[in-house]
Amino acid sequence: MSANPRILLDADALRANLARVRALAPRAKVLAVVKADAYGHGLVPVARALAGADGFAVARVAEGIALRRAGIGHPVVVLGGFFDRGEAEACGRHRLDPVIHDPDQLPWLPEDVRPWIKFDSGMHRLGLGEAAFRKIVSRLAPRRPVLMTHLACADETDNPATAEQLRHFGRLCEGTAFERSCANSAAILAWPQSHGDWVRPGLMLYGISPFPGRSGAELGLRPAMAFRARLIAVRELPTGEAVGYGGAWVARRPTRLGVVAAGYGDGYPREVQPETSVWIGGRRAPVVGRVSMDLLTVDLTDHPGIAPGAEVELWGPNLPVEEIAACAGTIPYTLVCGVTARVARIETERSEDGARQGCL
Ligand SMILES: *Cc1c(COP(=O)(O)O)cnc(C)c1O
Repeated sequence: MSANPRILLDADALRANLARVRALAPRAKVLAVVKADAYGHGLVPVARALAGADGFAVARVAEGIALRRAGIGHPVVVLGGFFDRGEAEACGRHRLDPVIHDPDQLPWLPEDVRPWIKFDSGMHRLGLGEAAFRKIVSRLAPRRPVLMTHLACADETDNPATAEQLRHFGRLCEGTAFERSCANSAAILAWPQSHGDWVRPGLMLYGISPFPGRSGAELGLRPAMAFRARLIAVRELPTGEAVGYGGAWVARRPTRLGVVAAGYGDGYPREVQPETSVWIGGRRAPVVGRVSMDLLTVDLTDHPGIAPGAEVELWGPNLPVEEIAACAGTIPYTLVCGVTARVARIETERSEDGARQGCL
C-alpha cells in the first residue's frame, strides 16, 4: 500500500446531497455545478455519480468538452459563456449551453444550444444591465432562453442585499414565461424564494456548508471528500528540541512526534494556525511546526499506540473541511479546489455485498 496522500470520493454522499437539494427545492430542476474539476473532487467521477441531476454547470468551454468526451449527455451550461468565435463554435459542436452576459457574444451564438441570459442584479461581475437584458431576452425569445442572475451575499442570511437582488431580477422577468435561475448553495438553503426553475448547487453537493461557522452535517449534508495520508515516521524528542523550518515549534515535554507524508505540495494549507488537528487512530492530534511541501508533523505524545503506516485524515467525515479552512483563515472552497494533481483520486462505491472498495 502506497504512503502517498489520496482523496477518496464518496459517491453515495454525493447522491445523498443531491437528494437533500431536491428535498429543499422540490419544484426546481437541479443544475449540478462541477466547475474546477468538480471543486477538486474529480470532474468525471462526480458527474457520473450525479447522473440523477437535470444538468451540469461548468465555468469554461474546455470543462464542458471534457464532460462530453466522457460520454455525459446531460444539458451542460457554460457559466462563463464563450469569449470568441472558436469557443462559440465549440459550444455548438458539443451542445454546450452558453451564458450570454455581453451583447458582443450574440453574432457568434450557435444554433443548436439553449442560451442562458445573465442579468447583473448587483454583483457587478458578469451580467447584462437592464436595457441590454430586456433587448437580448426579446431577441432570443424564440430560443426559449433561461433567465439567470447570481447572488453576491446569499451566505449572509440577514443581509438585505439578497432580497433586493431577487426583487430586481423578478421585476425584470415579469411578463416573460421563461425559466429562471438564481440560487447557489447558500440560497438553496437560506432563501427559498430564490429557487425558481433551476437551482445551481455547487458546494453543498460536496457536503460542505456555505455558511461560516456552520458545518455541512448541521445542514443534513455528508462530506464527499476524504483527504487521507499516512504516518511515515515516529520520533522521540527530548524537551527543548525544535521541529521543522524555522524551528517554529519547540517541544515543551518529551514528545512523540509523528511525521505525515502530506504538505502544501498536496494542497494542505501552510497557513494553518496552532491547534489545528488531524484525525488519527480514532481521535484528534495537533499539527505542530510549519507545514512543509511534502510533510507535516503532529504531536502524538498522547497517542502511544500509533505506529508508522497509520492512516491520517487531514479533512473528511471525521474532521470537517470547514474547520480546517477556518484554521487556515480561508474558506472550504479554496481547500477542496486546491488539492494538487499529484494526489490520487480514488472513488469509493458500495459494492453488491455492501463492502467499500477503491476502484480507480
Ligand atoms: C459557482 C457558481 C455556483 C455554485 O455556487 P456554490 O456556492 O458552490 O453553490 C452557482 N452559480 C454560479 C453562476 C456560479 O459561478
